[in-house]
Amino acid sequence: MEKTILIVEDHHDMMSILQKYLGEHHYKTIPAENAEEAIQIYQNGHPDLVLMDLMLPGMSGIEAIKKIKKNISPKNYVPIIIITAKNEVSDIVTGLEVGADDYVVKPFHFDELMARINTALRLKELNEKLVQQSEELEKANTQISELNRNLLNKNRQLRKNIYNLHGLFEISIELNSILDLHRLVNSILLTIVGQFSSNSALFLLASKPEIDRLEIINSKGFYYDALSDLIIEKTDPLISYFNKKGLPDLVNRLKRKIKNSPALNQLSALDVRVVTPIIVKGATEGLVCLGPRVKKQSYEKQDLEQISILANIIAISITNATLYREVEQLSYTDGMTELHNFRYFDLRLHEEVIRHKRNKTGLSLLILDVDNFKNFNDTMGHPAGDEVLRKLAKILRETVRENDIVARYGGEEFAVILPQVEKEGALILAERIRENIEKTYFEHEEIQPQGKVTVSIGGANLPDDADDYQTLVNRADMALYKAKNTGRNRVVIFSAEDQETNVPPDSETE
Ligand code: GH3
Ligand code: MG
Ligand code: MG
Repeated sequence: MEKTILIVEDHHDMMSILQKYLGEHHYKTIPAENAEEAIQIYQNGHPDLVLMDLMLPGMSGIEAIKKIKKNISPKNYVPIIIITAKNEVSDIVTGLEVGADDYVVKPFHFDELMARINTALRLKELNEKLVQQSEELEKANTQISELNRNLLNKNRQLRKNIYNLHGLFEISIELNSILDLHRLVNSILLTIVGQFSSNSALFLLASKPEIDRLEIINSKGFYYDALSDLIIEKTDPLISYFNKKGLPDLVNRLKRKIKNSPALNQLSALDVRVVTPIIVKGATEGLVCLGPRVKKQSYEKQDLEQISILANIIAISITNATLYREVEQLSYTDGMTELHNFRYFDLRLHEEVIRHKRNKTGLSLLILDVDNFKNFNDTMGHPAGDEVLRKLAKILRETVRENDIVARYGGEEFAVILPQVEKEGALILAERIRENIEKTYFEHEEIQPQGKVTVSIGGANLPDDADDYQTLVNRADMALYKAKNTGRNRVVIFSAEDQETNVPPDSETE
């Protein structure tokens, strides 16, 4: 593209020579006779280069250079070449200082002028390229730092989410391991209050799915008085709404969506802010309610999302806990030893006592207790102790007859009900059990005081020693007490004189 050169020169002859010469070399020229005109022209349209005579009428060339350079940004750099006479060398230095780029001294050779112009223009081009590149670099840089900022933000958000999810995961494990319903509800409330910095929390639950109302199970941060009449019917519009939506929401928003809900009015009067349904098998079986937050912040969308996750965890835990309670209520087996449990023992002994009264056949009861078992546990640890209990259970099962009933009576105590067995028979069987246990090798038994795992056994009989359930148990217990007191690893069947001589301090005798 054709370059434009502004020539500032007051000598007409010089001007026309320069114009002619530069025109021949395909430059477009703009003439200016003085500094003021030059500045004007310069401002109206930037030339590519300025040739500046220093000796001008009026404003000097030096002043003109200052003015021009002041308005030049690095982006549109315009080289200025000074034209001056031989005796004006000090002006050259000043001119270069105020921003001129080069100079030629009159009289000059045109080739020299041409070379300087070309160099200056090449510099200008390079400068433009540099400026352009550094602009691009700068743009890229801002983009990068923008991206970087976004990344950092994303990263922070991710870390926060991971942290929160991790917290929920741990809560989930913990809640799922709690099988006792009341302990579970307590943990849930404490977890919620901690996780969301809430002032208060409230837990309502239908005690069974077929119950048609939700009742308070536990609460934190409420006055009990205020809660005393809070019962929520399953027919309440709030519950019907939750049955459809299934998600936690703010009480204020719920009040706009649901009309005529006594439940919502009551919860709102208690200053509840968020209500979360606990959905079990598609129906709202419970509500978790959160009060205002400690620092008065509101509950945000992410809070509701997290509360929703927590509600699912709670629903699973609640199902587990209630299922466990049902299973436990139905079961008669001790999980660890696979013997009958105390509930079964209790039922069966009552039955056997009734049968004895009807048929007048004998009934004996043995109670066994492991000797110095605390020592074993303390030395070898509970799991090793459990192993001993399982092995004992096996020996018991293998030693008794088919009609006898073996049960785990308590921690390390076992009971054997012997229907239709008289006192002598009971003694023989008890002795056989004791002996079998004594001669069986139990791992690590050498750490026991006698170097082996042994049991003490107490026995009693109906009708010889008692005539009802409770007395029979008490007498067997007394005999066991005596067996312990007289050296352990022995069998004592209750006899009348034991009653006078060896009454345990806290035991009932009638
Ligand atoms: P004693 O000869 O007087 O019966 O002494 P002991 O150490 O057996 O008596 P104590 O009643 O003080 O201790 C009973 C111990 O049995 C305490 C407890 O650690 C242990 N125990 C109870 N139930 C279990 C159980 O299910 N598993 C295990 N490993 N240990 C149990
Ligand atoms: Mg004991
Ligand atoms: Mg014991």
